[in-house]
Amino acid sequence: MSVRVLPDFLVNQIAAGEVVERPASVVKELIENSLDAGADQIIIDVVDGGRTLISVMDNGSGMSRADLEKSITRHATSKLPDDDLLNINFMGFRGEALPSIASVSDMTIDTCNGSEENGWYLDCATGDIRPSDWETGTRIKVKNLFSKTPARLKFLRSDRAEMISVLDVVKRLAMARPDVGFVLNNKWRFPKNQDMAERIVAVMGDDVRGRMLEVNADSSANKLLRIRGFISEPTLRRASSVDQYLFVNGRPVKDKVLVGALRAAYMDVMHAREFPLCALYLDLEPRSVDVNVSPAKTEVHFLEPSHVRNFIVKNIRNVLAQPLKEKDSISSSIFSSALHSTSKSNFDASNRMQFPLPNRFAPDIAFMFKTAIKDGASGGQTEKIDLTVVCEDNKSETDLPLGRVIGQVGNKYILAQSGENLVIVDQHAAHERITYEKLRKYEIKVQPLLTPIVVNMRIEDVEAVLSIADEMKKSGVNIDSFGDDAIAIFEKPADWDLNWADLLHSIADEVREYGHSSQLCERLHLKLANYACHHSVRAGQKLDFNQMDTLLRDIEKTMRGAECNHGRPVYKMIPFIEIDSWFERV
Ligand code: ADP
Ligand code: MG
Repeated sequence: MSVRVLPDFLVNQIAAGEVVERPASVVKELIENSLDAGADQIIIDVVDGGRTLISVMDNGSGMSRADLEKSITRHATSKLPDDDLLNINFMGFRGEALPSIASVSDMTIDTCNGSEENGWYLDCATGDIRPSDWETGTRIKVKNLFSKTPARLKFLRSDRAEMISVLDVVKRLAMARPDVGFVLNNKWRFPKNQDMAERIVAVMGDDVRGRMLEVNADSSANKLLRIRGFISEPTLRRASSVDQYLFVNGRPVKDKVLVGALRAAYMDVMHAREFPLCALYLDLEPRSVDVNVSPAKTEVHFLEPSHVRNFIVKNIRNVLAQPLKEKDSISSSIFSSALHSTSKSNFDASNRMQFPLPNRFAPDIAFMFKTAIKDGASGGQTEKIDLTVVCEDNKSETDLPLGRVIGQVGNKYILAQSGENLVIVDQHAAHERITYEKLRKYEIKVQPLLTPIVVNMRIEDVEAVLSIADEMKKSGVNIDSFGDDAIAIFEKPADWDLNWADLLHSIADEVREYGHSSQLCERLHLKLANYACHHSVRAGQKLDFNQMDTLLRDIEKTMRGAECNHGRPVYKMIPFIEIDSWFERV
């Protein structure tokens, strides 16, 4: 086979694989182009999660006929005027987006730069250009995305899930540019010329009002290194990093160094599974950061990562450590009104460790068991244990592999005799095993609600929760939308009462970030583990004969009775002949 240069349409389709992963990436590229063109009003419309139509319209500089023609050829860009890849001041610079998107969709462009006598219309599929009466800026319409590449189409998630990603992209860019107005599907509106504080409330939701702390610091070194923005006070947190907005030189990023620094800064005041909210803008010299890492450009490389990290950790900690009075004075007007209306006296520099643990922390079951043992040892729990089954005397010895109880030693071990064996059972390990098996078989009983529980949420959170409605139903929680901005719960697991608003918000946070949520499962486990704790037999506890016998009979019924769920043995059998040998009887 001879070597050949691939035709353009194939090269573009291959590049599209990197640049255009899903509808949200198209939206990102188009909005970035609008921002680069100096627009201050951008209107975005997305139909069927972006499958059918994505339209982005701006009031930017527009294009001349010549530029319009060039814009869809590969590596054509107006944004690297001095060929300097290390000095990038625009959002895009590869000249890849338009040709890539055009190669996997039906794309058309309306544009007008105001200095030619008319505007222009380009049909990218045919290359047809004709004069039009388009008057200002540019509108790019992307129809039938991936219809030419069915393999990619298959990888798209539900319309709802794709829409959530689109919204996330719009929010990140809206946060990058509070001066620019954005409207998405006529539903989400971020008016232009907001100050940063107003934009933060518009993007993150009303619950952040009055609870964000301002950060503003310069490095003392002579090279530019500056951080500004807002971080949440530690009582305000999410179940995922959805509301962490990070920017490097104005560009939205999801960078490991920055995320790590944020986590480190909050370490003393927030559990690792909780996420602070932030809008943080890091500015440094273009030459000390490489934004050229990936086409999607959400990762960056810092020349001196540890320097950047230390700078961020130090300055966030400074803000978190400031006494409340000072925080009040630095917060901008919109925040200060409500700031600490609920004054958190348990949070200041001197007693940070007393900060309450996040209530959403869902411990694992093993942890709960260990706590139960400790509580028991220190007399923490006084509840009486109810092990009511009485031994069934009609059973013959051979039906009882663990034999008949002889007694208890050390308030820890049960001794029994089974056939020609002495049996020693660790009472706590045995009970752990039994409880674990019970938990595994737990069946959810669903209870319909006469009056549904209604939880008000932002539109995007409603969308996020609805996208896993089927999964939730399997866990006994039956929900549906209730208008645009609320969820109604129609069925719930019987005797399961919890803070439903909190649960649904946590689910929304997780779905928006990861596409799925483990919150329901975790809460279920927590409930079961709590139940198990209250019914748990502890080491150090005196048991009567009936209780011991019940324990033994239960263990016989569990499948893997020889080991507890931590892998420790539950019982030992010592044959009499072995005991005989101790006494030199054989
Ligand atoms: P890049 O943004 O990396 O330059 P693109 O393929 O995204 O590459 O865009 C190619 C060129 O098309 C841009 O450099 C710009 O000159 C022009 N262009 C694209 N979108 C717009 C827009 N909305 N307004 C004005 N010009 C645009
Ligand atoms: Mg671009």
